[in-house]
Amino acid sequence: MGNKYVYFYGDGKADGNASMKELLGGKGANLAEMSSLGIPVPPGFTITTEVCTYYYQHNKTLPSELEKEVEEALHKVEKIMRSKFGDVNNPLLFSVRSGARSSMPGMMETVLNIGLTTKTVKGLIALTKNERFAYDAYRRLITMYSDVVMEKAAGIGSEEGKGIREQLEHELEKMKQVRGVTLDTELSAEDLKELVEIYKAKVKEVLGKPFPDDPKEQLWGGIKAVFQSWNGKRAISYRRIENIPDDWGTAVNVQTMVFGNMGDDSATGVAFTRNPATGEDIFYGEWLPNAQGEDVVAGLRTPNPINKVGKTEDTMHLPSLEEAMPELYKQLDEIQKKLEHHYTDMQDIEFTIQKGHLWMLQTRVGKRNGPAAVRMAVEMCKLGLINKKEALSRVKPTQLDELLHPMLNPEAEKKANELAKGLPAGPGGANGMIVFTADDAEAWAKQGKTVILVRNETSPEDVHGMHAAAAILTAKGGMTSHAALVARGWGKCCIVGCSALQIDVSKRELSVNGRLIKEGDWISLNGTRGRVYEGKLELVEPDLERNEYYKKLMTWADEVRELGIRTNADRPEDAAQARAFGAEGIGLCRTEHMFFDPERILAMREMIVAETKQDRRKAVMKLLPYQKKDFYGILKAMEGLPVTIRLLDPPLHEFVNLDDKQIKELSSQFGISVEKLKARVESLHELNPMLGHRGCRLGIAYPEITEMQARAIFEAAAELTKEGVKVYPEVMVPLTGIYTEFNNQKAIIDRVAEEVMKEMKVTFKYLVGTMIEIPRACVTANEIAQTAEFFSFGTNDLTQTTFGFSRDDIGGFLPYYLEHNILPNDPFQTLDQNGVGQVVEMGVQRGRSVRPGLKIGICGEHGGDPDSIDFCHRTGLNYVSCSPFRVPIARLAAAHAAIKNGPQKM
Ligand code: ADP
Ligand code: MG
Ligand code: MG
Repeated sequence: MGNKYVYFYGDGKADGNASMKELLGGKGANLAEMSSLGIPVPPGFTITTEVCTYYYQHNKTLPSELEKEVEEALHKVEKIMRSKFGDVNNPLLFSVRSGARSSMPGMMETVLNIGLTTKTVKGLIALTKNERFAYDAYRRLITMYSDVVMEKAAGIGSEEGKGIREQLEHELEKMKQVRGVTLDTELSAEDLKELVEIYKAKVKEVLGKPFPDDPKEQLWGGIKAVFQSWNGKRAISYRRIENIPDDWGTAVNVQTMVFGNMGDDSATGVAFTRNPATGEDIFYGEWLPNAQGEDVVAGLRTPNPINKVGKTEDTMHLPSLEEAMPELYKQLDEIQKKLEHHYTDMQDIEFTIQKGHLWMLQTRVGKRNGPAAVRMAVEMCKLGLINKKEALSRVKPTQLDELLHPMLNPEAEKKANELAKGLPAGPGGANGMIVFTADDAEAWAKQGKTVILVRNETSPEDVHGMHAAAAILTAKGGMTSHAALVARGWGKCCIVGCSALQIDVSKRELSVNGRLIKEGDWISLNGTRGRVYEGKLELVEPDLERNEYYKKLMTWADEVRELGIRTNADRPEDAAQARAFGAEGIGLCRTEHMFFDPERILAMREMIVAETKQDRRKAVMKLLPYQKKDFYGILKAMEGLPVTIRLLDPPLHEFVNLDDKQIKELSSQFGISVEKLKARVESLHELNPMLGHRGCRLGIAYPEITEMQARAIFEAAAELTKEGVKVYPEVMVPLTGIYTEFNNQKAIIDRVAEEVMKEMKVTFKYLVGTMIEIPRACVTANEIAQTAEFFSFGTNDLTQTTFGFSRDDIGGFLPYYLEHNILPNDPFQTLDQNGVGQVVEMGVQRGRSVRPGLKIGICGEHGGDPDSIDFCHRTGLNYVSCSPFRVPIARLAAAHAAIKNGPQKM
């Protein structure tokens, strides 16, 4: 016996269950689970993802056993439904639905109403006594099937706007015009019957083949088309963005059709067990009477709120399901509660009501934005649905980014000219220049422009442009439309259903309430309230301190994590900001930025061009008061917490990038001839400055620089100590590669510390350690740690020096490397654990072999990257240090690392 390829579900039973997502895809696994839970699910079966893999490994053919298994499952369904697929009197219809392991909303294909033919449609009419409905279903089948199976899956490309679907929709519009109606629902049975014939002729004309009149051919055509859609352009681009592996494959769900378009006692809808935009614990969703599901999702009709609590000022007048069908609403409400309880997470559900009978079509863990994720996690924990660790795991560290996201300045908003209202699909604020196509959005964003993508509705073909845009605005669609779903997944500001917009894509302009707005014009969105404004409104940062859910979650993160979180900050303001975000110290305070101030740069330059030790010393000491003031400010802002200060690091040449005019000025200021000055500046020029005279090599050649910096640090520390402020300076020597380099510098630092303590009659604690950013330092860490009191891995330089990649020149080849899978990602963003990571590990082990408990941190860009933080936890580091705005992310990522890996090994 080979593998089982087909899994049946229905009638309170199922072959599969929710844990089988890999095999059955998310949709199939959850349909099986719901069926077993006794929730009404139209019966059907799932063809496994293994068949998809087989399909692509065997030249797009299906395994021979499949047909028999499908037949068997089909008979089971027929028995339950007491009707037959293809039967002319009592026809059973199917939907063929895709379903990958992790949801890819709208990325792959679904075909509804499979099994309708010239013969079975008559049976359906006799059975339902509803000719209008039957032809409506038939014309929908032709549209979906010709588009999905006959065009896309067959690999027939078409120009934008010239696809078969658009051409058929054009026929529909024509028919409506001729009949003088505006809504699809106003077309009569006769109209639709005629339309079906028009559609069939059009399909033949455009695609050169007739629409198949055989149910089995339709079924297998649909199944193959779903497999084919796994490698469709938009599915591939979505997988790239979401990092979904290409070899997972999709399952196919064949399911009994239920109809929400059978009249006013029928309906369809999409809902969330909690509000996915805010996290609020209310049942939240949308529905449409007399419609099929794709009408809600595709945003062709703007749907109604599902219940009274979900109504807003703007939707107050619309009928809710709660009011229109109270009994069914109650049933649905019970099911949603049961589902959330069962899955212990917010569910995104699809349902259809057929003639007063409720059917569930899908449930899955719902996508949510950052603020909603935080609120749900905390509230579910408080309800006892999940524990703290689970609550922490529910929020992706990068989602916290959204809580730090800007909003429109409320004052500016009050005065702004409101253009239109829409549905608040993705909160936050944004401003940008209008573009009308996804390709333009991508192209403009590449040029560094901030754009807002404006569309009638978005389709999965637009995802690349949506990704590139700062925000998304659509004229049609509801809170569960494609645009809303995708934007929420990315935490992007988004407004949908903004019906006042009249968009003319070909002219690249839109008119709204009498105003004409052109491509490139600025608009601003308030995605929290669904308001569109003219012009570029100011954005303001949010106030985290008032978000109780965030604060709670972060206290839990702090309880769980073992890694310390520090920040990289050079100025007291940044230090204070980071401290407010929860930083527990400064891991890297660079001193070079302090020298670029106009007053200071002069003294700096004087020092650099000095020819004698005496002159240099004189110039350097002019810098002392400035540096002291800087350190005083920073140490004070971080009262009670450690502050790692790195001594001067960059090549001196960076400070003397001078043009002729500046050289002349300096020459008169310093009393040195222009030629001499030029020659001196020239002599500082290096062929390879990154590997040149920098780091501790400067302090070794010019000890007075180290001396001045050490003095500035210690005098500031001494003063603060006298004032009763607790300070913990940690002096860090950059770019050590040889232990003798370090010892040379440490001797100066220790001497100055002793002098200052004596002079100022005060003692304070301090450490002297080194940055580890050269492979040789890792190899000889046991020598360096004899005297170094802490290590901090500078993983930017360590990545440069381990790979031998110049960070400034990597742009020449990195894009190619990424595209051709030579590197999985940019090693300057995500730590290269296999290479650079091993070098780090060696440094940790060898360092601690001579100094057990050696304090070790990391201060490169990687300190704020969740994967790299996981590595730091596993490698036994004491802390990570990152930029102030990454601090909350790092705290949560460190908690995740502790949950995932267990206690640190030191
Ligand atoms: P997606 O993965 O893009 O959400 P689905 O497979 O869920 O695609 O199908 C899209 C829509 O088609 C659903 O929202 C639902 O309304 C409708 N649909 C799918 N299967 C059925 C069915 N058996 N009966 C009625 N409607 C269905
Ligand atoms: Mg769906
Ligand atoms: Mg460095």
